[in-house]
Amino acid sequence: MQLKSIIGQQEVKARLLAGFRENRVAHTQLFLGPEGSGSLALALAFAQFINCRERTETDSCGTCPSCVKYQKLAHPDLYFYFPTTTNDSVKKDPKSSLFLESWREYLNKTDVYPTQNGWYGHLGVGNKQGYIRKDDANELIAKIALKSYESEYKVVIFWMAEKMNEAASNKLLKTLEEPPDKTLIFLIAERYELLLATVRSRAQIVKILPLKDEEIATALTDRKGVGQQEAAQFSLLAKGSWNQAVDLLENAEELQSNFIRFRQWLRLCFRPKDYLELNKFNSELGRMGREKQKRFLQYGLEVVHNSIMLNQKHGNTVRKSGEELDFSVKLAPLVNEANQREIYRLCNEAIYHIERNAHGGILFTDLSFKLLDLLAAGKRRMAK
Ligand SMILES: [Zn+2]
Repeated sequence: MQLKSIIGQQEVKARLLAGFRENRVAHTQLFLGPEGSGSLALALAFAQFINCRERTETDSCGTCPSCVKYQKLAHPDLYFYFPTTTNDSVKKDPKSSLFLESWREYLNKTDVYPTQNGWYGHLGVGNKQGYIRKDDANELIAKIALKSYESEYKVVIFWMAEKMNEAASNKLLKTLEEPPDKTLIFLIAERYELLLATVRSRAQIVKILPLKDEEIATALTDRKGVGQQEAAQFSLLAKGSWNQAVDLLENAEELQSNFIRFRQWLRLCFRPKDYLELNKFNSELGRMGREKQKRFLQYGLEVVHNSIMLNQKHGNTVRKSGEELDFSVKLAPLVNEANQREIYRLCNEAIYHIERNAHGGILFTDLSFKLLDLLAAGKRRMAK
């Protein structure tokens, strides 16, 4: 990636460029910054810049053969080491080189803003911890002893260097202290105190700060098309992390679509003559992933809960506004003693069955018929 596609971090970029201009790029550097600050992206963009054949004063060209390979994360003189552990495809002796394909896939998915949990999730390793291991160290030492393939500089990137275990670091002491000629080692880490002292003493620190709120807001608008006002709100909650901001955005989108879907669903349940349309809608719900189906129903439970609160004059506890609040206010009278308990039970039961792989289409059809009866009962009670 090019330096211009890194979010914010203008001061660090300028410092790195100045160091390069003045010919004082340390051979072992520690890019130290919190999750979501873009340390890896920055190190990678800097490495691409250094090896670019057509670079300008301030950035790589993005189009020369070297840049193209860098952007595919597949340059023969670029080496990645990162925490690994066993999973379904690598059942023993894990090491980075066995996971390179997954690694590239994951980096592409996150636009090179990886997180430790995200990476483990991508590997499907549950709660197991990953490490950078002795096998990684041995492999690296063998590889960088050879001449570079085509670049002036070989670049070695250790992501989450705090996960380097002692056996690996012991192997690497000499390499970190004095890498072979024309070799740059970039250690990427989030927490200084977790780095082995032997490792941190050998690297020059490049300190990376959390992103500024306005940098996150601008990136949300430019990259994700978020409106300015909304982007400003998310950026306050993101606490300097691009990953947090993206998470918030994705959840907000789902929340909004759950609202629209749930409202539509209840309307269709309430108008039983449109059987075809209801059936179509149920099939659509059935095609969503299981987790989405669960969150959809959990959203439904929340709506029912809000209706009960409104009925009991505790509307001040309902944290909704605008259309969503209007919907709950209109629905509230229909959700009453005649049905609230049963609606709750049915939604919970449906969640239970989804977790056990029930057929989504059938489940939602069944549920919608029951809801139809329950809402009718609620309406009769309301009329009394
Ligand atoms: Zn280039």
